[in-house]
Amino acid sequence: MKIGFIGLGNMGGPMAANLAEAGHDVTGFDMAPVQIEGVTMADSAAAAASGADVVITMLPNGQILRAVASDLIPAMDKGAALVDCSTVDVDSARSVAQQAEDAGLLAVDAPVSGGVGGAAGGTLTFMAGGSDAAFAKAAPLFDIMGQKAVHCGAAGAGQAAKICNNMILGVTMIATCEAFALADKLGLDRQKMFDVVSTSSGYSWTMNAYCPAPGVGPQSPADNGYKPGFAADLMLKDLRLSQQAAESADADTPMGQLAQALYAQFVENEAGTGMDFSAMLPRFEKRHRGDA
Ligand code: NAD
Repeated sequence: MKIGFIGLGNMGGPMAANLAEAGHDVTGFDMAPVQIEGVTMADSAAAAASGADVVITMLPNGQILRAVASDLIPAMDKGAALVDCSTVDVDSARSVAQQAEDAGLLAVDAPVSGGVGGAAGGTLTFMAGGSDAAFAKAAPLFDIMGQKAVHCGAAGAGQAAKICNNMILGVTMIATCEAFALADKLGLDRQKMFDVVSTSSGYSWTMNAYCPAPGVGPQSPADNGYKPGFAADLMLKDLRLSQQAAESADADTPMGQLAQALYAQFVENEAGTGMDFSAMLPRFEKRHRGDA
């Protein structure tokens, strides 16, 4: 296939390289001067999109996606597919899909989980929203860039699945970290705490697979000085998207709201920027009941 790829950063770069390596003809564009193995660089988003069967975007946020989409949609051939893999707000995803469909294009919102390692290794999970025809067109590319793609429903359903998952993840990480900090203060050994909880009803992905306590459980960013991994800044971004969506859908999400406030405090007023999102544990360790 002829593929346009816009946004060749930490995630988009290796995803585009994997498509090129699989034999697709990939033309890329990024605002920054990047070179990706096997990818021909164009000098605008529209130029990268022109004549492509599928155009993939992997951009920082919904505002940038909307701006880039309005440049590239007029340049695309009718029947081509616009596949946005960025994590953006549900409203932007739906609005871009509508604009693409009005122009005779297929559209898919397909945010990913799996991080930079998954992008490089071609093991991402895609959660997709859009028509059956649009999903079918993108599916062979998801198979190259990832290990699993779930068609979640109509436009915006991929973003909805992503932010609901990450709202659970943020809340659960905080719960796991505050429980470790409480266990410390109660004199409970961290390994014993792990041995019990990881096989009891408090178990979770954050405890069992990504344990925030160094030296306990499988290897995780905690064993590497809390270097990300999944950065606290990105968790804050996703929690904000979840609360924006909750606001516009009139959903009551008190735990998501609190998780957003805690990650905002951690990233913006404490030492959280650039740290893994599991660095909530050393944060709680230093704190006392009633601290602001
Ligand atoms: P990044 O900042 O490394 O990459 C974004 C790229 O977009 C940059 O290279 C930037 O120059 C480019 N860009 C910005 N504005 C542009 C424009 N107008 N035209 C063309 N290019 C433009 O970010 P990333 O880590 O690759 O993340 C991309 C998306 O994937 C985000 O939405 C993020 O939330 C999501 N995501 C990231 C991870 C992760 O672990 N990094 C995991 C899952 C999802």
